[in-house]
Amino acid sequence: MTVRERVLEFLMSREGEFFTAEEIARGVREELTPAEVYAHIAHIAKTVRRSFGGRAYIAIKYPVCLKCGYVIRVSKPKKPSRCPRCKSTWVSEPEFAFIMD
Ligand SMILES: [Zn+2]
Repeated sequence: MTVRERVLEFLMSREGEFFTAEEIARGVREELTPAEVYAHIAHIAKTVRRSFGGRAYIAIKYPVCLKCGYVIRVSKPKKPSRCPRCKSTWVSEPEFAFIMD
């Protein structure tokens, strides 16, 4: 099984629960950087609907600025380096979940 398949399997086995990139890396027991996890998630998010006949998707909990509360609606899985509104670097990590409709 590839690392990407194991990332999907990890999320599927905990359907509906949200995880950060670090938690996912720990879950699949691989030394993946957050950037590597985000790349896997981006790919999985594109293919998961088709793989499950439209009944499943990857949900993202958007990063939030922990200073001003702004929700940062990232278009791709990643952690923004700073808040676009107040420029604070105190930003939460995005979290991902496998959801079955
Ligand atoms: Zn802010």
